[in-house]
Amino acid sequence: MSQVKASDAVPIEAPSPFELRVNLAAGIPENAVKEALATGNMGFLHSFTTGSAVDGPGVRVVAWTAGCQWRCLYCHNPDTWNMMNGIPVTIEHAKERLAMYQHGLKAMSGGLTLSGGEPLMQDRFAVKLFSVAKELDIHTALDTNGYLGERLTDEELEKVDLVLLDLKTFDPERHLHLTGKEVGPTHAFARRLGQRKKKIWVRYVLVPGLTDDEKDIEKTAQLAAELGTVERVDVLPFHQMGRYKWEKLGIPYTLDNTQTPSAELVERTCAQFKAVGLKAV
Ligand code: SF4
Repeated sequence: MSQVKASDAVPIEAPSPFELRVNLAAGIPENAVKEALATGNMGFLHSFTTGSAVDGPGVRVVAWTAGCQWRCLYCHNPDTWNMMNGIPVTIEHAKERLAMYQHGLKAMSGGLTLSGGEPLMQDRFAVKLFSVAKELDIHTALDTNGYLGERLTDEELEKVDLVLLDLKTFDPERHLHLTGKEVGPTHAFARRLGQRKKKIWVRYVLVPGLTDDEKDIEKTAQLAAELGTVERVDVLPFHQMGRYKWEKLGIPYTLDNTQTPSAELVERTCAQFKAVGLKAV
């Protein structure tokens, strides 16, 4: 792996994940990619961002991984779909970077959040990075759609202090339409997290016309309540900040006319989660 040199042209730190990044792993030989995926010695990251106050408790460093099998119609970061758009980062380099933030994160009661893309596309790297964080006594959070949750053993899951679980919609057909993938594995992972008493923050992106069906939200809320370990639900209003990436990447975007949800709709959705005893913000 040592012969593989990460791109120096683009810094791993980014002001925000909304910065468009493509082709940064171009030139990495296929066998090196395969080895990276098998061992977790190298990961492909869109970027590191610092100072986040919304991706877990306290102030967070967020490592945004590249690679996602889903195709959510409202995805804000379609440049993270392709793993080869990410910057190759060795686990040693990631550890050095994380160590730089160790004391600051402690002082601000924060930690490391692994987001994406879908972090479990690079499950071996994710496990190694969480292990490194735990060695440094840093709080860990995994932001995931849950689809590949089976890739983590129960023991590996113990390295994750908090799961930010993205629940998109409940109805199987609607889910398939919205994401391109079936909902079953996500629900199975959610139930497993509940059984293992793993702390969860649910993330629910509210998109008018797509994820605002009252009955559907009721079912999602019911499921979340049944898990018994959901500490809070973040209702995230849809916005158009990622639209330019779809245009730049030449991917047809179907939500041009979709508006940000009204304050009333956000309030109604939060109220639905609160009605089953959950904290919703
Ligand atoms: S799961 Fe996340 S990264 Fe993947 S397509 Fe959906 S919104 Fe985008």
